[in-house]
Amino acid sequence: MAENSGISWTRHTWNPWIGCTKISPACDGCYAEALMDKRFSRAQWGNHPRARTGAHTWNDPFRWQRQAEKDGDRPFVFCASLADIFDNQVDPQWRVDAFDVMRRTPRLVYLLLTKRPQTIVKLSDAAGGLPSNAALGTTVEDQKRADINLAALEVARIELQPLFTFGSFEPLLGPVIIPPGLMPGWIITGGETDQGTHLARPTHPGWFRSLRDQAAAAGVPYHHKQNGEWVSVSEVSGPGQHFTFGDGATVRRTGKRLSGRTLDHVEHNTFPEVAARRASLFRSSSSLRAAPATPSGRCGCLPARSTCCVGTK
Ligand code: SF4
Repeated sequence: MAENSGISWTRHTWNPWIGCTKISPACDGCYAEALMDKRFSRAQWGNHPRARTGAHTWNDPFRWQRQAEKDGDRPFVFCASLADIFDNQVDPQWRVDAFDVMRRTPRLVYLLLTKRPQTIVKLSDAAGGLPSNAALGTTVEDQKRADINLAALEVARIELQPLFTFGSFEPLLGPVIIPPGLMPGWIITGGETDQGTHLARPTHPGWFRSLRDQAAAAGVPYHHKQNGEWVSVSEVSGPGQHFTFGDGATVRRTGKRLSGRTLDHVEHNTFPEVAARRASLFRSSSSLRAAPATPSGRCGCLPARSTCCVGTK
């Protein structure tokens, strides 16, 4: 699936800007910071200005759109792997511009993954409404984030009607029971990798299995992206550093490449099906112009909203 991305659950990654502020335990080993701040000095992490990317990057979606028109498919585009699309410290105009690009490339399915799901509705409205070809996802690394982030994602689902929702349980740092009524439409799991001086924390294989089984019970697709630096000895045995959890489950530090992507010797590669969209969405990209968002109603809600925001904010 990954064509221009090393990430198994997307074909492309698109970064309209680079830079972010850490807000969650999942950010401790931020890959983007290790690469773009510490290694290449492209942006400074924390409360510093974000770096908008150049014209070549902003043109990428139009190339992918033309290819998708030829191929007749709907490739997934992860936005953004080096930032957070719902970062409230970024210039709001950049998100307006990014959403405009998304609307003008309707064959692409944008995966908007955030660690800030509480800001999705407000910032989407401020950017002219969520593009109709966007899916919404949030990171869930432990039970606390499951309770908070999945609840916020569900609010955004009801308010904005994305193509689908998804949960990225990576790096999975603890056991997670998905609260009743908050099951996302797609579950992705993964273990942590080393980033600079940050050493990956081991994931209990039972935490992966539990999410696999919860997804199966709910009938939602499940994708296991990677085991990370550590892998269950039942998967890849051998010498080296081991870590044993309280219940006796043992993982071995093999490095990301050797640890692979199997769980109980099975690769889980399922993707959500994207419902057919209205034919009008597939006009040639050159004929598409982003329609100005027109607020309607006494509260100023955008037409795309399923419910009026009065009383919800
Ligand atoms: S939200 Fe993502 S990009 Fe931002 S600091 Fe956390 S891990 Fe890094």
